[in-house]
Amino acid sequence: KGMAANTKNSFKFVVVGGGIAGVTCSEQLASQFPSADVALVTAAPLIKAVCNFKQVSKTLEEFDVEEKPSTVLEEKYPNLRVIQSAVEALHAQQHTLLTVDGLKVHYEKLCICSGGRPKLLTQDNPNVLGIRDTDSAQEFQKRLSQAKRIVVVGNGGIALELVYEVEGCEVVWAVKDNAIGNTFFDVGAAQFLIPTLNTDKPERAATCKRVRYTIDGLGQCRAFEEPGSALGPDWHEGIRLRGAEEVQVLMSPCFPTTFCQCSKASFSVQFPAPVGSWPVYVELTNGKTFGCDFIVSATGVVPNTEPFLHGNNFELAEDSGLRVDDHMKTSEPDVYSAGDVCTASWEASHLWQQMRLWTQARQMGWYAGRCMAADVLNETIELDFCFELFSHITKFFNYKVVLLGKFNGQGLGLNQELLVRCSKGLEYVKVVLSGGRMVGAVLIGETDLEETFENLILNQMDLTPYRDELLNPNIDIEDYFD
Ligand code: FAD
Repeated sequence: KGMAANTKNSFKFVVVGGGIAGVTCSEQLASQFPSADVALVTAAPLIKAVCNFKQVSKTLEEFDVEEKPSTVLEEKYPNLRVIQSAVEALHAQQHTLLTVDGLKVHYEKLCICSGGRPKLLTQDNPNVLGIRDTDSAQEFQKRLSQAKRIVVVGNGGIALELVYEVEGCEVVWAVKDNAIGNTFFDVGAAQFLIPTLNTDKPERAATCKRVRYTIDGLGQCRAFEEPGSALGPDWHEGIRLRGAEEVQVLMSPCFPTTFCQCSKASFSVQFPAPVGSWPVYVELTNGKTFGCDFIVSATGVVPNTEPFLHGNNFELAEDSGLRVDDHMKTSEPDVYSAGDVCTASWEASHLWQQMRLWTQARQMGWYAGRCMAADVLNETIELDFCFELFSHITKFFNYKVVLLGKFNGQGLGLNQELLVRCSKGLEYVKVVLSGGRMVGAVLIGETDLEETFENLILNQMDLTPYRDELLNPNIDIEDYFD
């Protein structure tokens, strides 16, 4: 409160959230307007910074994410102030934010980048964990070291990584779809990856890659109370995901996991336990009940919108994100939003879809900053090229994975044709054609096809005459379309 009395708390630009979206947005604004006051209000003491950024092709990008103390930002941009406090309320009409410390922050333009939190199967059950930030990942690791069996619920990237990485503990994996990793893959790609679950993993580096900074005094306490920012692709690196059992208990002779398919998404978590000695039991919709040490809920995120809604008129999307238009504007004047908390509600390119990922958090944060700037300068701005084509590079089960466009035929119904090439253990290539044109692709392994396919998708060339050659491994496809 002392701070409130002594310091000027009125800013041209205020950004909420120290994740990738918020940090990128505030950096963009601070560098474009060196003489304007910019504030980044964030609940956690550490911020997420993009480093080693590499533009792989026209739309594909790769980068690392580092957690850093917020002072790093203030040192880099003298006009950027980081306020470490959680926002409690927004008065959009008055253009003010209220933090839990009683600080009143005034803005001309605001960007909300408060991310999301794990969707939990059930609230307030100590045996149901969600993984979102470093603290929850560490809690998970601690619990895992004493666990004999865990149940993983969910079928997205986090569940995939977990099931692959966890050792020395039986994993019951409950998925509602007909293939693993359904958010990213179809049955074919899943079949390609499943054998990897049983193979030895490459040696992990012994040291922890994710450096945790110790912050004295208040900051330290807050680190455990306030929601931190989401972890990224390497969240399990340096964290040893090892259970209590030296020898894995195999329920099925060929998989280290019991793979449970459920027809519906409803799970009832029974607590306290019925008969038996497990701390928690989970009943699946296929009628089976499993006892386990704890349940990991990895079923996606819920946008962190609550502190901003009361008394304001935000339009929310079906997934409860803040609806934003093609300038990242919400329905409240002068309020923008980017990253996991927002839902892209413009008429998107037929080759792009929103997915709550690192890359999109960076792209949206950057673009939101540019839109806010254009607004202030009375300039017009076109929707950025990165929203033309969905593209994502990641690693699953230690394979390089590139996803392009409508990689899973999203929204195409029967109007699609799939071409697949697969060499067991090496690569899996899938192309989605619609009306003879390439609209999506999944590339697993070192295929070297990403640039050529990206071009073919972007230029929407009619590939009907080349269909048979497209995936022929004996043809250098890059030369072919040169
Ligand atoms: P966040 O990173 O969630 O940041 C939100 C920020 O807002 C935080 O700093 C938080 O402290 C702050 N905040 C929240 N509420 C308030 C408030 N009321 N007041 C002030 N500050 C507030 N993506 C990939 O692309 N590849 C992956 O492999 C991948 N793996 C993942 C693994 C895990 C375990 C998880 C959880 C996510 C993963 N993701 C991955 C998704 C990716 O991490 C997110 O899409 C991305 O980090 C979203 O960034 P963001 O800036 O929108 O939000």
